[in-house]
Amino acid sequence: MRNADGGLDTMKIETVVVGDFAVNCFVCTGTDSQALVIDPGEEAQLVVTHLQERGLNVAAYLMTHGHCDHVSALAAVHEAFPAPVAMHPADRDWAFTTANTLPPFFSTAPHQPDSERIDFADGESYTHAGLTFSIIETPGHTPGGVCIYFEQDAILITGDTLFAGSVGRTDLHGGDSRVLSASLKKLQMLPDHTRIFPGHGPSSTIGQEKRTNFFMQ
Ligand SMILES: [Zn+2]
Ligand SMILES: [Zn+2]
Repeated sequence: MRNADGGLDTMKIETVVVGDFAVNCFVCTGTDSQALVIDPGEEAQLVVTHLQERGLNVAAYLMTHGHCDHVSALAAVHEAFPAPVAMHPADRDWAFTTANTLPPFFSTAPHQPDSERIDFADGESYTHAGLTFSIIETPGHTPGGVCIYFEQDAILITGDTLFAGSVGRTDLHGGDSRVLSASLKKLQMLPDHTRIFPGHGPSSTIGQEKRTNFFMQ
């Protein structure tokens, strides 16, 4: 069935807002009790309880990028719900090292769970939990940042690459504003009705951002 935005209503997406930086951890489900968990950044117990209350199992963890506010609860949630962890290798390289701390909020390196690893690659398609998505590499905020594109549902998970009305900062470890501009150009090619779900703050659409977001013009 098509919804008003022209997407297909096959995926349900719920948000658990976690941590001092109010990261949007997304729980995506299709028609069965398997879930994709995106960016379990902090407050593992909130995420675990969310999954338990809905009787869900985790099919895979998808990481938009490596920053500590997005990956720090991964190991603890993974302990309750073991599943493969997918992220871009250019961020996996440093995400679980002391390079990825931000005192006083994150003073130790995030733990990397002992799990099967899936390396995201640009343009590749993946199917987990009965949901198919593709990866759009969008470096600039971090070297291995990605957007996760559920084309059938016209949904784009943008991490810290694109926010409603703004974009990710480029002054942190591995950030590059020229590279980010090139990544944003790729996102401008997507259909206007594509709904975006950023790593912080409210959702929007590609069309809305092209009209009103300075960085998308
Ligand atoms: Zn970030
Ligand atoms: Zn963030």
